Amino acid sequence: PQLANQIAAGEVVERPASVVKELVENCIDAGATELHIDIEKGGARRIRIRDNGSGIPKDELELALSRHATSKIASLDDLEAIHSLGFRGEALASISSVSRLCLSSKPAQQAQAWQAWCEGRDMQVTLEPTSHPDGTTVDVQDLFFNTPARRKFLRTEKTEFGHIDEVVRRIALACPAVEIKLSHNQQLLRHYPKAIAESQILSRLQQIAGKRFADEAIFLELAADAESGQTLGIRGWIAPPDACRHQTDVQYMYVNGRMMKDKLLNHAVRQAYGDSLASDRQATYILYITLPANDVDVNVHPAKHEVRFQQARQVHDFVLLQLREALGAHVH
Ligand code: ADP
Ligand code: MG
Repeated sequence: PQLANQIAAGEVVERPASVVKELVENCIDAGATELHIDIEKGGARRIRIRDNGSGIPKDELELALSRHATSKIASLDDLEAIHSLGFRGEALASISSVSRLCLSSKPAQQAQAWQAWCEGRDMQVTLEPTSHPDGTTVDVQDLFFNTPARRKFLRTEKTEFGHIDEVVRRIALACPAVEIKLSHNQQLLRHYPKAIAESQILSRLQQIAGKRFADEAIFLELAADAESGQTLGIRGWIAPPDACRHQTDVQYMYVNGRMMKDKLLNHAVRQAYGDSLASDRQATYILYITLPANDVDVNVHPAKHEVRFQQARQVHDFVLLQLREALGAHVH
């Protein structure tokens, strides 16, 4: 199983930032409201993430580490309408096949915390009691220690941490109600406090996208309304043309809470600006699109950055129209 898991890891675990993404998605799926992310040496030495989510019962720890074991999908119908960020049951098995991974957890209703890790070629799981508050810690040490070819591709500590920082920003924008602390080499570098009230959400926006964007961007919101048959929803901020930037640093698009890079949606955004956006400027936006889970296929790529829409044209035109309206007199 180790070899099969390592092959799967090739698709899911490209670099430390991909480990962080998978682990944090698990925390969010577990309903966590607080995350501590501790990174050492750009993630090559250690990635440790602690959450206060639902935890993993002792008798499910071994399963959590095995391939294609997910607690999130029970039937084919579930696969047709995915509501969680994870669903493949591949991440923990893959990561543990290319690192020294230790999983510690305590569900609130279980008195004792337990920890589990895999060893050897047959990935034998060892279980031991430990002490841990309610929630889960995944500690990933020495990433790619047993896959030297992959380890060689790691860039400098600074570069790898930069990618991690970006993954955490994306999550921080997707989940404002979750408090996140991110440390590198024992130094707390980012703290995103829980943001519920509008003013708190604005300050998270400022922290991530900068004060200028927070001040100048246009807010738009159109909630889906099932009764009138309007199944699409959009919310977020878009910068007017003269406040757009030269770099691509603030381009965040979420579909049902999942960060996306989607050509079709990018096209709709660019089109909304018409000719008003100078050719050296980039569209600058943070947008959250919602649609019924049945109308979007997220099972396109193992790393889950891509989606396929049932009604691609309709989604495109909806986004274009809403953004045009929001930009109003700013574009022609
Ligand atoms: P997936 O997320 O696709 O289900 P993973 O390999 O990422 O697969 O995780 C395997 C299983 O381990 C999950 O289905 C979940 O039951 C459990 N799990 C992983 N991380 C956590 C966490 N932080 N809190 C609670 N359960 C977790
Ligand atoms: Mg997962």
